Amino acid sequence: MPDYNLHTKIEFLKGVGSQRADLLKTELGIFSFGDLLQHYPFRYVDKTQFHKIRDIHTEGTSVQLKGTIRRLETIGGGRKMRLVAKFKDDSGYMDLVFFKGIQWVQKKLVPGVEYVVYGKVSRFGSSFNIVHPDIEPVTQANLEEAAHLEPVYPTTGKLDGKGLDTKGIRKLQKILYNRLKEMTIPETLPAYLLEKMRMYSRQQALLAVHFPKDFAALQQAQNRLKFEELFFLQLRLLQIRSRRKKAFKGHVFERVGEHFIEFYNNKLEFELTGAQKRVVKEIRNDMGHGKHMNRLLQGDVGSGKTIVGLLCMLLALDNGFQACLMAPTEILAQQHYISMTESLKGMGIQVGFLSGSVKGKKRKQLLQFLEEGIIQILIGTHALIEDWVQFNNLGLAIIDEQHRFGVAQRASLWKKGKICPPHVLVMTATPIPRTLAMTAYGDLDVSVIDELPPGRKPVETLHKTEHHRIQVFGFMRKQIQAGRQVYVVYPLIEESESEALEDLNNLMAGYEAISKEFPPPEYQISIVHGRMKPADKDFEMQRFVKGETQIMVATTVIEVGVNVPNASVMVIENTERFGLSQLHQLRGRVGRGSDKAYCLLMSSFKLSSDARTRIQTMCRTNNGFEIAEVDMNLRGPGNIEGTQQSGVVNLRMADLAKDGRILQTAREVAARIVEHDPEFEKPIHAPLKAYMAVEGKAKKGWSRIS
Ligand code: ADP
Ligand code: MG
Repeated sequence: MPDYNLHTKIEFLKGVGSQRADLLKTELGIFSFGDLLQHYPFRYVDKTQFHKIRDIHTEGTSVQLKGTIRRLETIGGGRKMRLVAKFKDDSGYMDLVFFKGIQWVQKKLVPGVEYVVYGKVSRFGSSFNIVHPDIEPVTQANLEEAAHLEPVYPTTGKLDGKGLDTKGIRKLQKILYNRLKEMTIPETLPAYLLEKMRMYSRQQALLAVHFPKDFAALQQAQNRLKFEELFFLQLRLLQIRSRRKKAFKGHVFERVGEHFIEFYNNKLEFELTGAQKRVVKEIRNDMGHGKHMNRLLQGDVGSGKTIVGLLCMLLALDNGFQACLMAPTEILAQQHYISMTESLKGMGIQVGFLSGSVKGKKRKQLLQFLEEGIIQILIGTHALIEDWVQFNNLGLAIIDEQHRFGVAQRASLWKKGKICPPHVLVMTATPIPRTLAMTAYGDLDVSVIDELPPGRKPVETLHKTEHHRIQVFGFMRKQIQAGRQVYVVYPLIEESESEALEDLNNLMAGYEAISKEFPPPEYQISIVHGRMKPADKDFEMQRFVKGETQIMVATTVIEVGVNVPNASVMVIENTERFGLSQLHQLRGRVGRGSDKAYCLLMSSFKLSSDARTRIQTMCRTNNGFEIAEVDMNLRGPGNIEGTQQSGVVNLRMADLAKDGRILQTAREVAARIVEHDPEFEKPIHAPLKAYMAVEGKAKKGWSRIS
């Protein structure tokens, strides 16, 4: 007898020929027995009990019945022709209706024979029936089968065509199940953990997830597999962190020097919030003790992350190092440059700006000053990470609005340090849910600013449709007459050229309508979109910033970071086309001054249920963390910005939107193990070592990526 194990090729399974094997590989990525075993059902059909016809009162529920057919009738003609089987159990009668394959069904069903019937109840006039039920004669095997929770598997159209629909896959799982009962599936978790947490063994769990005997067993199996999945993810992340901390000594910023102190005492225009102070302390603690810092700074829109970043840069300068700040767009980078130069005026600090638009002599000069260490702070776009940018001694790199940057871009900042990598502080644009942060950035330390500066009033958010257009214009006029400024934002999705063009046309049409409503010289309007030259964009933007224009018509280029405290109204057009985090980010552009701010969400009258939920959420709350949770529930964790490269999308069993508690436990358990036995040398951790060695091979190179 051949020796089967989890690595056995899938073509060696009975019932899988080479044709099917090829399909399983290309369609589902199933190459081996183990892969098939990890092709989990996505739901289960409850066949653990038989219902009574008498008890059926609601349509839409799925029921399993046992009884006999009294007679068969063909009713109607042409396209309305159908076969009706009068079905009876010991409590009453019900019709089973077939529109398709009538001849075949007629031959198969025999009056008087006992059948198991499964299907969805529909209402027909005053009675209920079942259309196209599954129907099988009662045999011992069928009864046993019927006593199950029946797994339903994901498949594809191509697989269906080769008999590998959910039933076909179920059959393969059954064959595999019988094979596997004869062998042992190696355990991956330490025995003491299984015992302490009263978890199923891997073998038990894998078998029960495909063939659960009841809901309790299914839950046990799922919990075990979810835990395992999240646990190994956390174990890897925490091991990366632990190794990195050992491998790289960070620059020691032990001095709190004149720059920091002067700025803090004399230049800061407001008192830091408690949360800001705490975070500055956390960061100082990292950088002050020779630990290499790799930290994620989370905070809601407007919570004041920038000033925290600036203070940290001053710490770097005080210790003789350079610092840099990288922003995802030219506009945002320039804003940072302008406001920071302003804040630091009179302190004798050299601040430079670098982006793709800085060229020629100017660039050459800048790069030279940077290499000589004359420029102390460099602010810019991703041009900062180009190879030809050489620092004298970069000590701290800050990345603002990080979700726009890929993992690789973050990693390349590491190389900018001469002796050792700079400390890295990553600031998010909008909050991400805790479970996601723990996974997508699980190897980073996390600081959270969970408090807004005092006096912030929530932005009043209202949902409006085209019917309210005149009212909305009226409102804008009132606000402008009171001296405020207004944003009007249009979607611009550059998925395809034609879509982009249509969006651009929309924007221009909107701009024209607004220009008619708000004519010069009384009103001045700025317009900014992605197809404009950077210099023109900047010119228009600056006019609005300086208050020369009252209305800014724009695409989402203004989404991140831009700060115009006098703007108090944000009108968003085609709101249904924006994602939640984008909407929150846009709304964050207003409410930055002392005036009451408004956000008007314009949409068409008809909305999908997801779009409705997004709009309702925006109207209900201003809390970015809450909005992020809703976003994750709607779109799934794999679709939240910034997580694509993180492995979150590859989770097979666990769901970050639902399994927060299991994740928390997994992280705690993993942290304890990494702390006491970081390389899994202890005999009790042998299964971990074995698992990580095999799985780790495919994931090399993770360790330097922040
Ligand atoms: P974000 O976290 O979204 O990047 P910013 O750093 O742009 O937010 O800060 C938003 C605004 O709040 C800025 O105008 C900033 O000057 C101001 N601000 C930051 N911290 C405080 C504070 N502690 N008190 C008052 N205003 C503050
Ligand atoms: Mg910001």
